[in-house]
Amino acid sequence: MKFETLSIHAGGAPCNDTGARGATIYQSASFAFKNTKHAANLFSLKDSGFIYSRITNPTVAALEEKLARLEKSVGATCTASGLAANLLAFSAVMNTGDHFVSSCKIYGGTTSQFRDTFQRSFGWNLSFADPTDPENFRKALTEKTKLIFAESISNPEGVVLDIEAVAKIAAEAGIPLVIDNTVATPYLCNPIDYGANIVTHSTTKYLSGHGQAMGGAVVDCGTFDWKSHADKFPAIGKEDPSYHDTTFAETFADMPLAMHNHAVGLRDLGMNQQAMNAYLTILGMETLPLRMVRHAENALKVAEHLDSHPHVAWVNYAGLATNPGHRLAQKYLRDGMASSLFTFGLKGGYDAAVKVVEGVRIFSHVANIGDTRSLIIHPASTTHSELHEDQKAKAGALPEALRISVGLEHSDDLIADLEQALSG
Ligand SMILES: *Cc1c(COP(=O)(O)O)cnc(C)c1O
Repeated sequence: MKFETLSIHAGGAPCNDTGARGATIYQSASFAFKNTKHAANLFSLKDSGFIYSRITNPTVAALEEKLARLEKSVGATCTASGLAANLLAFSAVMNTGDHFVSSCKIYGGTTSQFRDTFQRSFGWNLSFADPTDPENFRKALTEKTKLIFAESISNPEGVVLDIEAVAKIAAEAGIPLVIDNTVATPYLCNPIDYGANIVTHSTTKYLSGHGQAMGGAVVDCGTFDWKSHADKFPAIGKEDPSYHDTTFAETFADMPLAMHNHAVGLRDLGMNQQAMNAYLTILGMETLPLRMVRHAENALKVAEHLDSHPHVAWVNYAGLATNPGHRLAQKYLRDGMASSLFTFGLKGGYDAAVKVVEGVRIFSHVANIGDTRSLIIHPASTTHSELHEDQKAKAGALPEALRISVGLEHSDDLIADLEQALSG
């Protein structure tokens, strides 16, 4: 089936009991067992079913199935937020004292999470690599490196990753490549096609699409051989004493990471997604293909306008033919559509950038992306303010830079709004 059909029907069968056709909200903490044997089998993973919504919930499971299918993958585990998805994914792969390599062109909240809390609280050490030359990832590898992390389209800069080149480096090192596919969404890019092993999402953004529901997801591509590297990845590759010495890589060989993320990760870390948020995200995802096309069309028109504006110093949108990332956008993104997130710089520097943020009327000044509404923010003083100066520059959060997420309004109105703010 094609993407448009799957985005509506995957995970979306009518309810067995009631025939309810639309997505249903299972607003229940727990699920009744048929008898004590059924309960015991569910707890020991011999049977699949619902126990308690921290671990699995039917509404969340419907979203997980939809997302896994759209990412051409074997399973998914939804979380309370995108950052919770990072924590969940890493907790299955990393041990205390291990090391990972992350692209330096990533969302500011992820940078802080990696640089501060992951190191301090979990002992997960990291090196940042500039993804514009994929070889930088190889140079940063150590004996203890357990994964490589990067964004397929970076937030805020909109830089497109050469996924295939980085995947090759990860495969040669025998470690998984984790791709944050939030900005591209599975409609524009399936990282599994280029060798990624794990995909993470902030479903808060384009997937839910209406700026109303927080959420995240870890997608198990099913392409990593945990068994051959069991010593490096004991959580999945070796016996788990909390489940009668079950080895996830053997017992659940078809989707070991997704099973582990539910049975161990969500059980012990507790960052499950709420049924109401899963429901809103399912509704949003039914129109994902329609929305992403309009997002990209609008973004290209706005970027072209800004690119020829006398007050604008530069525009970094990979959809523009003149952009250095255009070739990668053509290769990795459906029809070269480069989503709707990008930065542009004002000739007047910081002061001019702040003036535009205060002058716009249709664009909302908020810390979010991927909404039906167009959004604008000054990353250097907000989303990326906690970064050190050199990290800000590397992430593209320059003083004169504004980030916009172009929404689904009419492009004429968006261009007129920016025009009056730029000339005001
Ligand atoms: C927003 C975002 C995140 C974090 O997601 P939350 O849902 O806010 O926790 C991670 N990665 C990218 C690319 C994002 O844009």
